[in-house]
Parts: sequence; structure tokens; C-alpha cells
Amino acid sequence: MRLLIAMMKHETNTFSPVPTPLARFGPLHGDAAIRAYRGTGTGLGAYLDLAEQEGAEIILPIAAGASPSGPVEEAAYKHITDTICEAAARGGFDGIMLDLHGAMVTERLEDGEGELLKRLRAIDPETPIAVSLDMHANLYDAMIANATVVTGYRTYPHIDTYDTAKLAGDILSRTMRGEAKPVMAWRNEPMLPHVMRQGTDDHPNKELQHRCAAMTAEGALAASLFTGFPHADITNAGLSAVVVTDGDRKLAEELRDELLGRAWVEREAFVYKLEPLQRSVGRAKTMPPSQPGDGPIVLLDHYDNCASGGTMDTTVVLAEILRQGLEDVAAFAIYDPAAVQQAIAAGIGARVTLSIGGKMAMPAIPAESPPLMVTGTVKTISNGHYRNRGPMARGVMMDMGATVVLDTGTVEIVLISRHVEPSDLNCLLSLGIDPMQKRYVMLKSRIHWRAGLGKVARAVVDCAGVGVCTSDYGQLKFEKVRRPIYPLDLPNR
Ligand SMILES: [Zn+2]
Repeated sequence: MRLLIAMMKHETNTFSPVPTPLARFGPLHGDAAIRAYRGTGTGLGAYLDLAEQEGAEIILPIAAGASPSGPVEEAAYKHITDTICEAAARGGFDGIMLDLHGAMVTERLEDGEGELLKRLRAIDPETPIAVSLDMHANLYDAMIANATVVTGYRTYPHIDTYDTAKLAGDILSRTMRGEAKPVMAWRNEPMLPHVMRQGTDDHPNKELQHRCAAMTAEGALAASLFTGFPHADITNAGLSAVVVTDGDRKLAEELRDELLGRAWVEREAFVYKLEPLQRSVGRAKTMPPSQPGDGPIVLLDHYDNCASGGTMDTTVVLAEILRQGLEDVAAFAIYDPAAVQQAIAAGIGARVTLSIGGKMAMPAIPAESPPLMVTGTVKTISNGHYRNRGPMARGVMMDMGATVVLDTGTVEIVLISRHVEPSDLNCLLSLGIDPMQKRYVMLKSRIHWRAGLGKVARAVVDCAGVGVCTSDYGQLKFEKVRRPIYPLDLPNR
């Protein structure tokens, strides 16, 4: 048996000014990609395990995944997709297994994944193709029409990336052996669920995802509800569903319609309600002191989540924390490679005054984020490498680039040189910061932080700052998304 396995992952925030060249993907090829992903809790890890169990010959032309940012540069998209298509063109494959995101927008295309699948189908009309997607996928017909089986994550934070790909791969294996004939039904609903309301610990996505899981006991091979990624001004942004059955199109359509109907009924629960920043930080300040063993109070700077395309260099929430005088705070993180170098030049123990953040313009949103002047002691200097302990992306090496911790006396500010979302405890522990010993932890994240710190957080305070993942839809100029769409246009009928 011969299998083609590849990864191409990017969640594109079309409002983000962060560029997306090929280098951001850190592409790996062949054996280097296999070494990096074998044994990890990732989609690629699952495909590799399956291939090994089947005793298959593995062709892995490219594994390319970039942290979310603006539209993918055409040269990067061309390189990644050409590499996959050239491998497919050499032929002789029994199956193709792809670990994709589903919300990739390029400088030219709204649907990066659909275009790749279309090209693969044109090269090889027969070989079955399995695709695993992120829950934030914005689905297009080309993705479904040109794949054999599509599955999506059921958890947010995404701790089931491995299981999602394993499910797609298992269905593909059965298809290759002639034991199943998958048919898929998909459709979208005119709604843009808010990312802050999409967590699968929370109503209504919790119940919706449970329903997806239960459908496999009712004849579905796989059922996926995609909450979608709203920070993309493209035709098909928003919620959708795909149901795969073994040859039963009618059942697939019925189950799909049931999922979409349930989501639509709950549309109001997917709307996020804002609290002004001054009030939320003030509320955090008046919370009773921690007792030993209490976890930290998490201050969520959710407008500037780099894992949704944020620049990670806005300082408005941090400035308010300093202004209101909160004490015993760790802040992760401000992206500022220049400030990091200044701190490194000063050296451990040096007292420095730095202008941090506020260096990337955000023309797509109205708000300003000025740099922040801070004075503190350089406490830690690190190469910024750590390995995820899980449960999210367990075993994967992370790279924050050159990293320092600047201690102002009240706030330990982490300054990083590469965008990394704080979804794993080791991002802090690797820098000598134990979040359990802190009264407050400020995180630039929306939902994924829960994978690492969710269980230990004593309380969570959402802080509305500034950033291209703004939780205020009113700040985003939607021009291409299909209209009408809830909650932008439709009354809550
Ligand atoms: Zn996602």
C-alpha cells in the first residue's frame, strides 16, 4: 500500500496586517516532517500511525502550518500546493490523507483548501482523499465535492486533532478495502458565531458537538459542525455542517439539516456581550485575595489573540492593568523582537526602560494601540523553545523566538519574537513563571488557553482591548460575506 500524506494549515484573518510568507509555515519535507510529527497528538501524527499500522509506504511531500495571520502570499500557497500536487502526479497511491485547516484565504483565493483539492482531483480522479479540518473551517463546495471523506474537530480548545484525523483515516482505510462507500452532505447557515462563544465547555456548542458524536451511533460515519471563523471577510465565513454516511445520501442530508437547525435555534447564545475594559480590570482588582492552592485569576486580552491573526503587540489591556495597580501579575505576551534585543543587550539583572508593542499598524480596524513605556528588571533570557505537554498539540516543539521576562515589580511581562498563543502551560513554566503562584495571569488568547490553564484558573475576566480579533463586530468592515447574515443583519426572529 502507498499513501500520500500532507499538511497545509493556516487560519486566515483577512483583517490582520501580519504577513504570511512561506517562512511563517516553517515547511518540513519527507523524513524531516515524519520525524517532527511521528508520535505527536496532531492530525499528521494520526495519519502516520495509521500508515504504519497498514504497513504502507509513506510519501510525505510537505508539512506546512503557520500561526494565523493575514492572507497567504501567493508564492507560499503555490509552493505548498505545487509540492503536494507534484507528488500526487507521480501516481500509484492507494489513498491520500490531508491535514488541512479549512479557513485558508490567499491573496487571490477565498478557499485555499478547495482549490488544492480541485487540483488533486484533476490529477487523480480515482484515489480516495481523506481530509481533517479545524472547527473554524469556513466551508466551500469545492472542499467537499473533491474529497472522499471530511471530518472536523469536536473540541475547542482543539484537543482532538489526533482523533479527528484518525476518524478520517479509518473511514478512508475502509473505503480503500471496499468496505464503505462514503457520501457527504454539507451546507452552511447564515450565521457568524462569535469565537468567544464557541468553546465546547460552554452552551450551546457543547451540546451541538455532543449531538455530532451521537450521530455515529445512528448511522453516520462522521458528523461535524463547524462553528467557522468570522474574522474573514469571504463569502462563506460562518457556521456549516458536514455529515458522512455509508452510501445513504438521504440520511446524511437529514442529519446535516438537524445540526444546522439546532445551531440556528441557538444563534443568540453565540453572540458575545462586551464589558468595558476599565470596568473589567477594576472588577478583577476587587476580587478577594488568593488562598494557598487557588489558581490565578485569568485576564483575557482576547482582542489580540495571535492564534486568530492578532499582532500580539497591542498594549491597551496591559496598560490598564499597570494603571489600576494590579499586583502579582504575569503577562503573556507582547510580541516585540526589537524590545527583546534591547533587553538581551542590557543583560540579566539590568534595569531598563523599554518602549514595548504598538509597532504594527492595523489599518482594517479603527482603534489605535500606542507603544507602552515600561521600566523593569530583566529577569529571564531564553531561546524561547519549549515542547507542548498537552493536551493540545502534545509533543510538538514550539518556538517563541528570543524571549525575555521583564519584571516591573508588579507585572512580569513576557516579550517574545515569534507569535505563539499561550495554550500550553510550558510557555510559562519554561520561562520560570509558575502561574499557580501568581494572583493574575494576563493571556492574549480567547479559548485555547483553557487547554493549559483552564482547569486551574480561579476566575476568568474578559478584557476588551484592541486588536484585529476584536470581539466587536461593529469594528470590522464586512464587504464580501454573504448577506444577510446573523447577527450582522438578521433580526433575532
Ligand atoms: Zn481553530
